[in-house]
Amino acid sequence: MNKPKMAMEKCASRVLMLLSQLERLNEEPKVSDTDAIRQITGKILHILQTQEKTRKEMVSKGSSGMEVILSSLENTRDLQTTLNILNILNELLTVGGGRRIGAFVSKGGTAILLQLLVSSSKDLPMNEELMLHIHFLLVKVGPKDRKFGVKARLNGALNVTVNLVKRNLQNCKMLLPCLQVLRVYAGNMVNAVSLGKSGALDLMFEIIGPYSKKSTTLLKVALDTLAALLKSKMNARRTVDRGYLPTLLAFYQDWHRNDIRHCHLIIRKSILGCIKNLTAIKLGRKAFIDANGMRILYNTSTECLPVRTLDPLVNASSLIMRKCFPKNRLPLPTIKSVYQHPLPHIPAGGPVALLYSQPPEVDDVVDESDENETTEIDTENEEEETGHKSQIDDIETDINKLRPKQMQTRPFDELIVYERFCVEFTEDFKDNDFKGCKAVDSDSHRPIVIPTTLIPVGSPKKRQRLENVQPQKSPESPLEQGSISISKTPEGKSAPDLACSLSRLVLDGGSDDGYQEESGEQAVLEVPDTAAVLPLHDPDLYLEMITCTRSVPAYTEVAYPDYFGHVALHLREPIVERVYGVQRTKIFQDIERLIHPIDILDKVVYDLDNQSSPVVENGESLKFNSKFESGNLRKAIQVRKFEYDLILNSDINSNHYHQWFYFEVGNMRPGVRYRFNIINCEKSNSQFNYGMQVLMYSVQEAIRGSPHWARTGSDICYYKNHFSRSSIAAGGQKGKSYFTMTFTVTFQHKDDVCYFAYHYPYTFSTLKMHLRKLRALRTAQIYYREDELCQTLGGNSCPLLTITAMPESSSNDHISQFRSRPVVFLSARVHPGETNASWVMKGTLEFLMSRSSEAQSLRESYIFKIIPMLNPDGVINGNHRCSLSGEDLNRQWQNPNAELHPTIYHAKSLLQYLRATARTPLVFCDYHGHSRKKNVFMYGCSIKETVWQTNVNTSSSDLHEDLGYRTLPKLLSQIAPVFSLSSCSFVVERSKEATARVVVWREIGVQRSYTMESTLCGCDQGKYKGLQIGTRELEEMGAQFCLGLFRLRHFTSPLEHHKHNSHLLDVENDLIETRNIPNITSPSTYVLEEDEPAFLEEVDYSAESNDENDPDLEPDLQDNRALPDPNSDSEFSHQDCLT
Ligand SMILES: [Zn+2]
Repeated sequence: MNKPKMAMEKCASRVLMLLSQLERLNEEPKVSDTDAIRQITGKILHILQTQEKTRKEMVSKGSSGMEVILSSLENTRDLQTTLNILNILNELLTVGGGRRIGAFVSKGGTAILLQLLVSSSKDLPMNEELMLHIHFLLVKVGPKDRKFGVKARLNGALNVTVNLVKRNLQNCKMLLPCLQVLRVYAGNMVNAVSLGKSGALDLMFEIIGPYSKKSTTLLKVALDTLAALLKSKMNARRTVDRGYLPTLLAFYQDWHRNDIRHCHLIIRKSILGCIKNLTAIKLGRKAFIDANGMRILYNTSTECLPVRTLDPLVNASSLIMRKCFPKNRLPLPTIKSVYQHPLPHIPAGGPVALLYSQPPEVDDVVDESDENETTEIDTENEEEETGHKSQIDDIETDINKLRPKQMQTRPFDELIVYERFCVEFTEDFKDNDFKGCKAVDSDSHRPIVIPTTLIPVGSPKKRQRLENVQPQKSPESPLEQGSISISKTPEGKSAPDLACSLSRLVLDGGSDDGYQEESGEQAVLEVPDTAAVLPLHDPDLYLEMITCTRSVPAYTEVAYPDYFGHVALHLREPIVERVYGVQRTKIFQDIERLIHPIDILDKVVYDLDNQSSPVVENGESLKFNSKFESGNLRKAIQVRKFEYDLILNSDINSNHYHQWFYFEVGNMRPGVRYRFNIINCEKSNSQFNYGMQVLMYSVQEAIRGSPHWARTGSDICYYKNHFSRSSIAAGGQKGKSYFTMTFTVTFQHKDDVCYFAYHYPYTFSTLKMHLRKLRALRTAQIYYREDELCQTLGGNSCPLLTITAMPESSSNDHISQFRSRPVVFLSARVHPGETNASWVMKGTLEFLMSRSSEAQSLRESYIFKIIPMLNPDGVINGNHRCSLSGEDLNRQWQNPNAELHPTIYHAKSLLQYLRATARTPLVFCDYHGHSRKKNVFMYGCSIKETVWQTNVNTSSSDLHEDLGYRTLPKLLSQIAPVFSLSSCSFVVERSKEATARVVVWREIGVQRSYTMESTLCGCDQGKYKGLQIGTRELEEMGAQFCLGLFRLRHFTSPLEHHKHNSHLLDVENDLIETRNIPNITSPSTYVLEEDEPAFLEEVDYSAESNDENDPDLEPDLQDNRALPDPNSDSEFSHQDCLT
């Protein structure tokens, strides 16, 4: 037998005995029992202090120890008994963590303590020991009781503590616990306001002060209390009014100077925390600027920079400086696109209607009263609901909306015109010789003309002018084929000793005969011979194609990369590791603009808004240009000798969507680091923060035999800047800012012309050239037809391809096999900025036209209907998101307008026709690009998976859903290394109800209806893990998509099932993985913003004026260790965050 154990058991049972005695006494309280209770509590306390294990016994499960103790505390009027019990509680709550405190709180302990505090405060003289003990306990309990603030206020405890602080300013022993409790009170906003009125702010300023080695713990708690109080805007105003902001700055400087060994980092950071909360209000920001705060924090931060452990200070300072940085106006006359395109009619509502209804005198660049104090009032919410509800809210819960519609949206006689796009279904192939290379002549199919108010193409009639728009640039006159000339316009003083004088490649519509050199220099343009490696590229054909491409600005120049072509590099381009502190460095450089304004050149070197007044050249500045297909640079400003601010043009008939870019740079000095800042980006985050680089094309490299786009740039960073975004541009929200995408480049060659792009460009003219070349690849086995689906608003032709295998003969059997092939409907590039989608489409098309046996089998299996570019006008005019109607075409599928959205209208009608003729496609897939995620993945539609995500009370058991929609993504994940199944989602979101994927699924009834998203950045899994994506990988994906379709045959054709019998069925079961489905779609794949799910990585780029949630300024009250929080200050934290 173990002796100590027995002793312990004895003690435990003794405690229980004492407790039950106490319990009895509580039930029948008599005055004569006071002594007994005092004795019992004293004994319990003694046992607790000597026998650690008995504490456990007292609060173990099923024990009523806590109730008995609390009940005694509530009932007793005896001071010694009260102190005994407070000590008992102190013993109990000191160890055992949150569980015991939780038990204490749930048994009503907090309120009993607070009542005791208030009632004891009325005794005169006040018993200091009692007060001290109560506060010790409150310090323990407060932070763990969610309702502590409210309870303290309702019990009237706030002023008791404030008065104790007032009376004990010199009594550190008493002051510290009181301050700690005050700090917890102040965490409640209503309390903070009330405490501010009771003079708590002035009290804190009596405690905090300049550098001193004494009572730093006290100082720290006072600063934290002050910071908590200052979260109330009313308190912040009161503090600024009394002139305390310069005081805080002076304290900060003093600590910075004297805390040489950095022992008091946490105090310095707490001072910054107070300043940060003060600068949350306009008055505070003004006071900060007036007190020279920018320079003070800039200088202290610069001195802190070399010491890595001081990063929290630098980051906090940088946050404050960014908040206080005066908002600048984007240097533009208007944020509307430089170019306007007249619309056949203005839609009744939506962004375009808003744009057009805007009075001409309105300044849309900045808001009239940007600094509005009305929002700066305290919210009276006790507990603010921080909602992660929005993403859940977006999921469709209306089960009727999830069920496919079984209605015909248009009468069949309206759809019959679309028969012309499906002639293969009626053709008898009797005249076909099946040996030659004859294909159906596409020219015989005229476009469908929908009567509109649009002026016929080519008509010289004047266009209607929009109010308050830029004067119409040159009229849109298509260049006549045959009158092209390549001219070399003399650009500045081009050195005559150049191996090849690089000047602009211009299509000259005015010259009479052929190609000509216009400039005095008759340098011969060396075109790299890429025919061997780029079978679909042909520079001459490109020029031919571009002559009938109609752009709104009537571009006459041709970008060299599109002319020369792009040969994918063989070297691997890894995803770039982000350099530590890059964002901070960039922000400091921006702050220097304010601190040293004299160093800023502010010289406009390119300006589409002022084309009439050409920029004076002095040979020192870079030359910019983007007046070519898909180009979209609006303005370039030289800020410092080697630094340029760039502004992108908005989408036509729009005032935003700045993301895609494509421009040319010349007159560079080799070996110098140039910094470029695109300053009007809008997305809140970007893959540029996660290893993506920009693309650069060097013409010198091309001429030397290596024509290629390559990833380039260092010090890449994407962050919120100080250019204000008007509410007009921010969807009505005030106080928003733009974002800067910055990158640094060192050019290799002298007299080079280089191009920069967001992603590998792919112009409409390139598509036409590729189609012309693909058509030439036809063989006797390939059925290839190119129709014109319709004309676009800009007067371009939207191609529709039909690809399949020719029937083996014109025999009935063969024709019948031909006609029974299921349709696969593919489209791409509805979003012009997603050029990667075109490269994937190129891969698909090349595979479909190839001579491989798989390609032939695939053609024999399906009839492909392909619209390779749903938005040619957007692509041509350098838009990022919209068509010429200023709208996102992938939000128009529910109710497309024939005039405003012709490509969508006719694509949908064609699908309706197919459905009406019992040829509903087996697969529909719209190719997109994704700017915020890695890899390639798909979005599909599933009722069940949507219902599962929402926990809507639907008896989902009665939903019968074929799981076939999962097969293709699963096959692709097995075939394609870039494809990631875990990123796929099959949830139907409300915000996506007008997208192609959802409408084709719901209205056309295509079960396998997808959006395929390709990363713009790179891969984080598979064979290409850690690499940025290139055209080779994108094209490979396009080909592998075909292989996926090829394998899909086995799972969709009843004949195939029969042929390959049971083992394939097993494979299918394996593929579908029914049991795992609910787990596959993780919350991270919810699609929140447009096509883009929430970003999974978080970057601290925020500097919102109203940024209230800053957990790093809320250190644990109990934790006074002077250690910086490793997470809170890292500039680049990898927490999962759905923002
Ligand atoms: Zn898209």
